Amino acid sequence: MLENKFPGKDITLDDMKEKFPLCVKKNENDFSKFEIAGVEFGGNQIPIMAGPNMVESKELILDVADNIKKIGAHFLRGGAFKPLTFPYRSKKFNETREQGIEWLKIAKNEFKIPIITEVMEEKYIELVSSVADILQIGSRNMQNYPFLTACARSGKPIMLKRHYGASLRDWLGAAEYILYEGNKKVILCERGVSIPHTHRSTSRFAIDLQVVPAAKEITHLPIVVDPSHATFWRPWINSMSLAAVASGADGIMLEVHPDPENSAVDPLQPINYDHFSKLIKKMDVLATSVYNKKIL
Ligand code: PEP
Ligand code: MN
Repeated sequence: MLENKFPGKDITLDDMKEKFPLCVKKNENDFSKFEIAGVEFGGNQIPIMAGPNMVESKELILDVADNIKKIGAHFLRGGAFKPLTFPYRSKKFNETREQGIEWLKIAKNEFKIPIITEVMEEKYIELVSSVADILQIGSRNMQNYPFLTACARSGKPIMLKRHYGASLRDWLGAAEYILYEGNKKVILCERGVSIPHTHRSTSRFAIDLQVVPAAKEITHLPIVVDPSHATFWRPWINSMSLAAVASGADGIMLEVHPDPENSAVDPLQPINYDHFSKLIKKMDVLATSVYNKKIL
């Protein structure tokens, strides 16, 4: 039966049996469902993760936590440790690291909102885990296998972002490293892929929404879509967020900043509170009317 279903696709039956058996669905309706900080993934809820690219300051992260929670987000996102593409730093464009983790703790306690934040190095897993409800493994670390194993062993839920050059096969292979350690709370995140040419110079990546149904044919793991990093362009966030919900995504990650043009990192992609508030309502209408799921 499986033979008929996957006739010569890029992922073979042998891959499914031998390379990433723990990722593979046992039957048509075998989808993982689990709770993280009281929020259900893989069920009827479509969790929203929102926040700035970077934990720039205490004031910023407290303001964002307060506002996005009121608007309806389920998790606060934001990096204290950042995989910045170039090595140069300035006062504004600077990772806040240990201090940023402290500010996330204050935001979490004051506004009772769970946290997803990136960890980049094994030596910081313990520190980042002291605040994170979900450890984010960034695109650039997707195939850092010893690091994946170390993160998995922390026992924390993990969101594994897809590398922008990785196939679904590579991505599931990486997820398998985490599952192999007995850590079952694994979430995939599509965040855009590189293609030889896009039709706009500001567009670094193309959102691969086709990977959502493709992943769901094979794996039981929930899959989140991040239209902010995928589009890199605010005017496309609404359409692509709605399209992500329509594609069957199990969650949405969005960059939200009170003053997007002045975001320290990637100022072309975040949306402001008003924009976020309108968009989350639209996504909720789509999720409830088409899929009988809810966002708000
Ligand atoms: C992020 O989410 O802040 C981030 C750096 O994402 P990515 O790893 O997908 O580039
Ligand atoms: Mn970013």
